[in-house]
Amino acid sequence: MYRQRTIRSEINCRSIGLHTGRKVGMTIRPAEVDAGVTFVRRDLPGRPRIKAELANVCDTTLATTIGVNGATVSTVEHLLSAFSGMGVDNAIVEVDAHEVPIMDGSAQPFVNMLKDVGARVQGKCKKLLVIKSPVSVADANGSAAFLPDREFKITYTIDFKHPLIGRQTCHVHLSDAAYEREICNARTFGFLRDVEYLQAIGLALGGSLKNAIVLDEERIINKSGLRFPDEFVRHKVLDAIGDLAMLGMPIIGHFVAFRSGHRLNNLLLKELMRNKESWEIVSRYPPEPPRTAMSLRLPSYAVLDAVSPYAETFAQVR
Ligand SMILES: [Zn+2]
Repeated sequence: MYRQRTIRSEINCRSIGLHTGRKVGMTIRPAEVDAGVTFVRRDLPGRPRIKAELANVCDTTLATTIGVNGATVSTVEHLLSAFSGMGVDNAIVEVDAHEVPIMDGSAQPFVNMLKDVGARVQGKCKKLLVIKSPVSVADANGSAAFLPDREFKITYTIDFKHPLIGRQTCHVHLSDAAYEREICNARTFGFLRDVEYLQAIGLALGGSLKNAIVLDEERIINKSGLRFPDEFVRHKVLDAIGDLAMLGMPIIGHFVAFRSGHRLNNLLLKELMRNKESWEIVSRYPPEPPRTAMSLRLPSYAVLDAVSPYAETFAQVR
């Protein structure tokens, strides 16, 4: 049995928005069991609420944007990634603009804020989405797939025609607290020529060396360099965890991506939802009596919990 979690108390922060270039205020509050993550546009009349779920994803071009009836919040993926990676199921996120603050371009500041307040274990089990058979999508550039596995794993490959990036693969098991150690502090990245173009059309106005790795044709502009030699692919893993969080529950399966991005990740989730025989939702461990048991391991949330769930395994009837 593995119970849902929310945060212990309110979190407040204020930082620059990537696209508007203005300071965005954000308050994260605890939420009830089964509530999931809901964004609130507190700057708009009626304070519209937008739940972070697949049906509300309305744009995946530069970042993931969710919206309901014209009220939108964009760049939600890094915060959702932090919630997912740290095992927070339920939260209310109030923002006073149409984007989440970009912070340093990674999820580390969000993880630090979550650790500062800690997690509150709630009175109901987490639901888990267990992948039972492979599902995949592809386009001209890349592919993304889910394969059955006993734990949440990601294998992500990027391939950029740039001397400092090239082909990089990141393989990570999320069941041993790897999210905080290996993924959450990888920053987003961009190319100088794209930044110049985006700013000319009024986007990425808040983009700077403080919140992204910026590359020109052959070098990294940031004086401090990289946090990992393969920080680029690690950030794509961070993004994918945020994109997959639109399912509203942890996944038990192996996510394999080649040159994927927000759009393809989103298409994969839609394809998964269409293929109902390829997954099941479970919430009780172990079911009685187990016929053929396969032990499952959840992503580890040891950092936010007093007890280490690392040791927890679950039997699941297949
Ligand atoms: Zn990102």
